[in-house]
Amino acid sequence: MTGTIAFIGLGNMGGGMAANLLKNGFAVRAFDLSDEALAKAESHGALRAASAADAVANADAVVTMLPAGKHVEAVYTGDVFGAAKSGAVFIDCSTIDVATSRRVIAAAQDNGFAMVDAPVSGGIAAAASGTLTFMVGGDGSAFAQSRPILAAMGKAVIHAGGPGNGQAAKICNNMLLGATMIATCEAFAMAQKIGLDPQTFYDIASISSGQSWSMTSYCPVPGVGPQSPADRDYEGGFATALMLKDLKLATEAAAAVGASVPMGHAAEALYQMLANRGQDHRDFSAMIELLA
Ligand code: NAD
Repeated sequence: MTGTIAFIGLGNMGGGMAANLLKNGFAVRAFDLSDEALAKAESHGALRAASAADAVANADAVVTMLPAGKHVEAVYTGDVFGAAKSGAVFIDCSTIDVATSRRVIAAAQDNGFAMVDAPVSGGIAAAASGTLTFMVGGDGSAFAQSRPILAAMGKAVIHAGGPGNGQAAKICNNMLLGATMIATCEAFAMAQKIGLDPQTFYDIASISSGQSWSMTSYCPVPGVGPQSPADRDYEGGFATALMLKDLKLATEAAAAVGASVPMGHAAEALYQMLANRGQDHRDFSAMIELLA
């Protein structure tokens, strides 16, 4: 499938995603508040739009990749629905709160448009290489319409259920990731204090019941396990600020539905502590320095 995609929000993630749409034969009409982001998109072959509404006019699909719920709401309460052509599908790939996501999708439906939430797993490198995983919330026909567009930007596109369920999958996954990373850091720091060599502990725990992705794919100890941000002083990777953002979304969502998430709250408090120490730009596995 090819067609014209309006892409709104071409920052760290959106820039790479739009480039992959272009590589896969889609035309891209780009809009961002940042001139620098737009210039970069143009260098990849996108057409610069003057506003969100201008980008959306005549597009077959609209993809948004924005920082937070307030930015998503600002774009969708603007005139994008009025400007879109009939039959266009709207795809919000931003990580935002479930309530805002459901409200925006309901507004799209009220205006006669199909829409999905499709947050991603994978960071800036996966966005650039087209290997993101998309967790998609929306009805079956909206999912079917958005799938080929998402497939051009990722390696997996998974239907998570109705509107907002992509966000639900994303925050539950990242809450689990935050907690397992902290537990992994805690165990390595303690093992070392008791006198256990980190590599030896890795060799044992990575094939024992304490194994997790945080240990065997993203080990927080430098020089242990496959290459990870720990091997470059915790630069690059998944920023502590973004982990904290996702944990806040998770604990807010838990409160809204009365779910008990004591580990999620503990993870949020610890990542807040790490961020307060000026570490918010460093990879989230730098947690080990707080616990060492
Ligand atoms: P970013 O800040 O680099 O990019 C966001 C872009 O949106 C910016 O270029 C900004 O100018 C633009 N923008 C903001 N408001 C706008 C508006 N009203 N109209 C048009 N453009 C507007 O952020 P990012 O790192 O690309 O992240 C985007 C989303 O992806 C976030 O929700 C984030 O949580 C999620 N995410 C990020 C990563 C990551 O590793 N960076 C990983 C997974 C998910």
